[in-house]
Amino acid sequence: MHKNFKGIEKTVFGRGSFAQLGDILNERRNDNDKFMLFVVDNYFKDKPLASQIPQKPGDVVMFIDVDQYEPTTEQIDTIRDQVLAKNGLPAGVVGIGGGSIMDIAKASSLMFTNEGSSTLYQGLNLVKKPGIYHVGVPTISGTGAEVSMTAVLTGPVKKLGLKCEWTVFNQVVLDPDLIASVPTDWWFYTGMDTYIHCIESENGIYNNVYSHAFAEQALKLCEDVYLNEGSGQTPDNDEKLMVASLMGGLSLTYSEVGVCHALSYGLSKILGTRHCYANCLAFNHLQDYYPEGVADFKKMLKKHNITLPQGIAKGWTEEQITRMAEVSYNLPHMWNHAIGLDWKDKITLDTIKDLFKRL
Ligand code: NAD
Ligand code: ZN
Repeated sequence: MHKNFKGIEKTVFGRGSFAQLGDILNERRNDNDKFMLFVVDNYFKDKPLASQIPQKPGDVVMFIDVDQYEPTTEQIDTIRDQVLAKNGLPAGVVGIGGGSIMDIAKASSLMFTNEGSSTLYQGLNLVKKPGIYHVGVPTISGTGAEVSMTAVLTGPVKKLGLKCEWTVFNQVVLDPDLIASVPTDWWFYTGMDTYIHCIESENGIYNNVYSHAFAEQALKLCEDVYLNEGSGQTPDNDEKLMVASLMGGLSLTYSEVGVCHALSYGLSKILGTRHCYANCLAFNHLQDYYPEGVADFKKMLKKHNITLPQGIAKGWTEEQITRMAEVSYNLPHMWNHAIGLDWKDKITLDTIKDLFKRL
């Protein structure tokens, strides 16, 4: 079966395009109870952007701190319940922030129309009805959350996305000005998520002409941003990174991620390590699987003075390492892609434990 996915309905790209958000939303303002819900990264609370939000009387603006924890099912249920009780059903929800905020916007869009707790819908195609109109405005680039068909939530039992066609944004606003203020370490880790998406998407059995075309272009852009002469956080590079993030996301959607993401999920699940940082920790030691990608990654680390901690595995118990390896082993689609359909002949729980012990 070939993958057949819905894409973002509308995309605006360009410096200053955030100023168009008001007009874009006006087309939808008569829906439902005729107000917009804005979920905004708390970072912007006292920044100029907060006063540029095209807020009208009746709209709800929520500033959300994403540093304490990644989006949870409980958080989404609370947003939905509070807004429904106090304000009614929004015409739309707009997420202004990084992967965390965009996932909150995507998930709450779905939960406004689907009864019960969001825990019921963690998984593939479990959502029963389309959500409300939702818009993504990324302010940090790399995860591809702006284009993906999943909204990752941590619940009491699982950390798993609400994944279906209706999760995909109706509208995305890509304004490179918005990512200019990202601190260098986050700029690096989150941008590397895209780089790793491309390397993994390219190196495996599900790669094809369509996914390759996106990865090839996204890699070129990443090299300009992080590796080539002129690399660094500049306005030109912010434009490139924004497009790379989207294309890297499309590439993996039509192919698959691989060994690094499999390990990264183990780290996130057992130790709570954040996605992009966990990828960097793992990728640094995957030269056997992605020799060229890892060699360039090390050059990029050096170029931007990023130091990753070494020897962290020494602080983990054997039991923790086993649990991490079990999480990774249970992602067969990633291993299928990266190693081949006979991966179980080549990769055992011990192979994966040894990979973790390299960290
Ligand atoms: P994030 O949203 O977690 O934000 C990272 C940090 O950057 C925060 O401190 C935030 O306040 C800050 N920040 C954001 N924009 C800023 C700006 N313009 N200036 C200054 N600071 C800014 O970052 P992320 O790495 O984009 O997202 C990680 C989340 O994305 C995780 O929750 C992960 O589960 C999720 N994710 C989702 C997908 C998907 O397809 N849905 C894919 C990968 C990861
Ligand atoms: Zn990723």
